[in-house]
Amino acid sequence: MKSAIETISYNRCTGCYGCLNICPVDGAIEFKKTEEGFYKPFLTSKCIQCGICQKGCPVITKINNNNLKDIKTYSCWSKDKEILKNSSSGGIFTELAKEFLKDENIVFGAKWFEGEIIHCAISKMEDLKPLQKSKYLQSKMGNSYKEAKKHLMTGKKVLFVGTPCQIAALNTIVKHENLTTVDIICHGVPSYKAFNKYIRESFNLDIKNIEVDFRNKDEGWESYNLIFKDKDKIITKNNLSKDQFFAGFLQDVYLNKPCYKCEFRTTPRQADITLGDFWQVPKGIKNFDGTSVVTVNNKKGGDLFEKIEAGIEKFEVDFETALKGNPCLSTYSQKEKNRVEFYENVDNMKFEELQRKYFPFYNPSFLRKYLGFIKRKIYSLYERLR
Ligand SMILES: Cc1cc2nc3c(=O)[nH]c(=O)nc-3n(C[C@H](O)[C@H](O)[C@H](O)COP(=O)(O)OP(=O)(O)OC[C@H]3O[C@@H](n4cnc5c(N)ncnc54)[C@H](O)[C@@H]3O)c2cc1C
Ligand code: SF4
Ligand code: SF4
Ligand code: SF4
Repeated sequence: MKSAIETISYNRCTGCYGCLNICPVDGAIEFKKTEEGFYKPFLTSKCIQCGICQKGCPVITKINNNNLKDIKTYSCWSKDKEILKNSSSGGIFTELAKEFLKDENIVFGAKWFEGEIIHCAISKMEDLKPLQKSKYLQSKMGNSYKEAKKHLMTGKKVLFVGTPCQIAALNTIVKHENLTTVDIICHGVPSYKAFNKYIRESFNLDIKNIEVDFRNKDEGWESYNLIFKDKDKIITKNNLSKDQFFAGFLQDVYLNKPCYKCEFRTTPRQADITLGDFWQVPKGIKNFDGTSVVTVNNKKGGDLFEKIEAGIEKFEVDFETALKGNPCLSTYSQKEKNRVEFYENVDNMKFEELQRKYFPFYNPSFLRKYLGFIKRKIYSLYERLR
């Protein structure tokens, strides 16, 4: 029987590591970076063609998770200013994690390791900081789903946070009353090839020492900065509207192929709770230091969310209000703008040239002036006609 990757092909493969976590043969699958810069499975000569990995592949195996279509949606944030500062949006991940770590239970999340992102487990509050904040790169899952299963077998409670495709993979492998899952609203993951090229050409540094704080809030939550560090030394600070790598990410030039038509960011959601940024949050229910949108997708999610209520501010809203500023909360497709051209030229052009040609900075001041001009014209026309 065919393996999962032979069945679905690389264009549909998210790189979620589900197949690796279920394969019974040690060393039959190796994860390596593709030409485009995404981790995906490669079969070795040890593969016995048993086809078992199809059961752990969420593209093939669909699990009915009983999550509700009619979910509860909130605008919320942590009351703890330090947590807010160290989180991408409203710090709800940390509030949820604290609930597990206070009894030395287990939290899985993503952290920097040697210039890349890996998933790992922690059981102590002092290890939480590296898991906070979004890292806009593909996280290498390794054997985390299998590890989560082992922790559950020893009686531990597990909180597992990941992208919707990762949670869908986890759901094919582990089902347990003590497992609570959180998925993030997901725009998609950008390429390591693009990231590494950008870092090498801009900073001439060893990739392994690089860490990026993608969500520094010194100038606010909505207009955040990216801080590039060589070990702990700050090299540069770029506003999100002026960072070349981020421009290509936000303009969808080098996302992982399945992200453009993601089948996992949809409602009913994959996890018990969903977290994101509440972009375009209505006035009155907004915190300028970070506002999370949270959807509670089933009873298990609701029970956990109730436990953190004392530490957060929360306001219930319509799902449609949250969806307005954040289309990735439900089914949403992106266009592959200049992706082919980018990859055709990535090895023979400088990153800066690629950026100018294929994902130029959007100029908000020009747009504002232009919109202001149009508004004034419409207003004067209206005045004349009155
Ligand atoms: C690749 C990516 C794309 C995203 N796209 C959107 C979007 O389009 N719209 C939106 O509203 N929100 C998006 N988010 C989610 C958002 O940035 C915040 O992560 C979310 O709001 C939670 O914030 P927080 O303040 O509660 O906690 P934070 O402390 O910011 O928690 C972040 C959580 O995400 C986990 N995480 C970090 N990086 C990764 C990764 N690479 N892969 C898997 N898990 C990771 C961490 O372990 C932690 O559990 C995205 C996040 C990522 C990683
Ligand atoms: S040995 Fe079986 S489960 Fe493992 S990769 Fe090959 S087909 Fe898949
Ligand atoms: S399980 Fe995940 S990594 Fe493996 S083939 Fe399927 S989508 Fe790709
Ligand atoms: S957009 Fe979809 S496929 Fe891509 S990382 Fe997010 S959940 Fe996975």
